[in-house]
Amino acid sequence: MSDPKFAVFGHPVSHSLSPRIHAAFGKQLGIALDYAAIDATPETFAARLDAFGKAGGSGANITLPHKQAVLPLCAEISDFAHRVGAVNTLTRRLDNHWRGDNTDGTGLVRDITRRHGLDLRERHGLILGAGGAARAAAFALLDAGVAELTIVNRTPERADALADAIGEPDRVHTRYWDDLANLGNFDLIVNATSAGHARESLQLPFALVAPRALCYDLSYGLAASAFLAWARAAKAGFAHDGLGMLIEQAAESFAIWHGKRPDTDAVYAQLRGELPLHASD
Ligand code: NAP
Repeated sequence: MSDPKFAVFGHPVSHSLSPRIHAAFGKQLGIALDYAAIDATPETFAARLDAFGKAGGSGANITLPHKQAVLPLCAEISDFAHRVGAVNTLTRRLDNHWRGDNTDGTGLVRDITRRHGLDLRERHGLILGAGGAARAAAFALLDAGVAELTIVNRTPERADALADAIGEPDRVHTRYWDDLANLGNFDLIVNATSAGHARESLQLPFALVAPRALCYDLSYGLAASAFLAWARAAKAGFAHDGLGMLIEQAAESFAIWHGKRPDTDAVYAQLRGELPLHASD
């Protein structure tokens, strides 16, 4: 068997839907591609990525826990990935160095605006979480015209660090998790925590949800079910999980590598029909 030209690196990674998504995109556009899932621990990641490149690897997706660790391995980083401080897409350049991009933010905004047909502009947003995905979401939502963002994280220092990195004190605020009941309401609430993966309940007050609010969980399948059930019980106007974001960020990576953007709707419909068989990414 030949060495793969494309891969997703993570730990664990066997559950990743990325190989299936990229295979479906390739089939759709008549591009034969060999896309593997490579399990690399933090200790082995740099060496495995180096070996992948030397064996002819052209592009890679990077997932937990390597999205920040990959930054120093890139000779070139997109402006958005630099601002977010995380890379999820690597492209091998002609002189054999890696360029790093981050397509998570574009994936989120495309899913909300294009697939679900919702306008983000002038919304007052609340982000729960301040990890890598929350960082990409925060920058992308602000770029997309959200009026204000409040960031709340279990570990408040990480929320403060994200707000500092954004550097827009008039638009971005941080609050303590214990104050959630006193924050008023929001017409955009993004769950960017990984609590759902551990089946941990976030204990959120219904009063956070403004009429017609969009509640969005970056995770999907079973991991998103508790947050989405809360949003529906709180009478949110819209409650969506992150399956569409996952597929849109993959399409962005695919377009970077192959110069053609796939149609994501058929892949979305297929995977949506299979959930919640897949717990989450
Ligand atoms: P991460 O960097 O590990 O961050 C995890 C975040 O969750 C942190 O803010 C953490 O708070 C918080 N958290 C964990 N358990 C919690 C609990 N019980 N209560 C409150 N907060 C809790 O992970 P990530 O990469 O940002 O991923 C976050 C989520 O986004 C995951 O569900 C992941 O699957 C999803 N995601 C989806 C896509 C997509 O394409 N759909 C892409 C990327 C990520 P502390 O700082 O206090 O630990």
